[in-house]
Amino acid sequence: MLAIIENGLPKPETSLTITIAGAETAGLIAASLLKKAGLNVRIIEPNNRVGG
Ligand SMILES: Cc1cc2nc3c(=O)[nH]c(=O)nc-3n(C[C@H](O)[C@H](O)[C@H](O)COP(=O)(O)OP(=O)(O)OC[C@H]3O[C@@H](n4cnc5c(N)ncnc54)[C@H](O)[C@@H]3O)c2cc1C
Repeated sequence: MLAIIENGLPKPETSLTITIAGAETAGLIAASLLKKAGLNVRIIEPNNRVGG
């Protein structure tokens, strides 16, 4: 886990779009890591605010 936080996720071989449910801490961190790895990220959140 520390290695992923320090170095990021490995780059994917194909283009993918990932949908994340929830714009709280876990969802936002996952989205950040996936975006830095080059993936397309979409977050869905039922509330009108993000980040807790
Ligand atoms: C009263 C209280 C005070 C706190 N104070 C602090 C503080 O001062 N500092 C601090 O660091 N932490 C604090 N925390 C803890 C912090 O809020 C949590 O650790 C953090 O919110 C956890 O985030 P999470 O991503 O794990 O999940 P959650 O907070 O559980 O977020 C889940 C998200 O998913 C969304 N969701 C749920 N179902 C769906 C669905 N079907 N489709 C799409 N989206 C969905 C929800 O709307 C929500 O946005 C507090 C918690 C509480 C309860």
